[in-house]
Amino acid sequence: MVDTAGETLAYFNGGFVPLAEAKVSVMTHAFNYGTGCFEGIRGYWNADDEELYVFQMQAHYQRLLRSCKTLMIDLKMSVDTLCETTSELLRRNDTRYDVYIRPLAYKDSLELGPRLNIAADALTIYTRPLGNYLDDSGLSVCVSSWTRIDDNAAPARAKITGTYINSALARTEAELNGFDEAIMLTSDGHVAEGSAENILMVEGGKLITPPTSENILVGITRASVLALAADLGIPVAERRIDRSELYGVDELFFCGTGAQITPVTSVDRRPVGDGAIGPITHKLREAYNRAVRGQDAAHRDWCTPIFARAGVAAD
Ligand code: PMP
Repeated sequence: MVDTAGETLAYFNGGFVPLAEAKVSVMTHAFNYGTGCFEGIRGYWNADDEELYVFQMQAHYQRLLRSCKTLMIDLKMSVDTLCETTSELLRRNDTRYDVYIRPLAYKDSLELGPRLNIAADALTIYTRPLGNYLDDSGLSVCVSSWTRIDDNAAPARAKITGTYINSALARTEAELNGFDEAIMLTSDGHVAEGSAENILMVEGGKLITPPTSENILVGITRASVLALAADLGIPVAERRIDRSELYGVDELFFCGTGAQITPVTSVDRRPVGDGAIGPITHKLREAYNRAVRGQDAAHRDWCTPIFARAGVAAD
């Protein structure tokens, strides 16, 4: 699906270049040591409005700049400039379809040695078409034998390229064992998250998710879902979750930019609830799917219109 040979442009080295020309050296520090941080952002095409809405773009770039601080990367760009650059890229690519946007800030040095105090910081942004990242009809998941990285070893709060080896180990093990996805536990045995998704469960009508101190990436979708739950009058709690609670819950789902809202219908071969997608998951998924396409008036501020900014007034 990715048009590497054609006209698709990427932001690279301070300008817009054909994606096929956005290349780094094999000696690049980030390639050798995982010293990069990134975001995954979605844009949703709304055919009625003939508009591309980028979902929660400001929040994603706020998180990117926080990750950059951890990695001592100084992009010398504000959140507004990053949003403007992304909008410009999408306009230049005439992106009139559902799209995934991948900004990546990284150590662009050719130096040897894993350290962060190197002033050689770079940013690239590329885009690609994206539909569903996970099967949305209900996942069969396992609890991973891989432990979630600890904040004090490699912080999950920052979205660091190198730390995704933890996700890759868990997801690969799950798939090779016949599951769709893994749930990782913290080193003291509490539920953290999926390989690239936050997790939420429903028990007695209440939505429960691990707190941000449980070695999770503090998800932007998670925050959006908690806000939508509040709109719908669904009570919410952020508290620690034990592994064995997963076997008795009424509903369970993942959320993330890629995953959107993806129901989980079994954990370690035990059905979640009656094994079907539950009513609260269903309601939240509907609300989320409306919000991301700019169809929820209460949350229009989550959506950045890309083409209206080029001169056509928004409503
Ligand atoms: N956890 C991990 C490990 C992730 O990679 C992601 C995807 N970015 C998420 C959670 C969900 O975060 P968000 O909703 O901000 O995409």
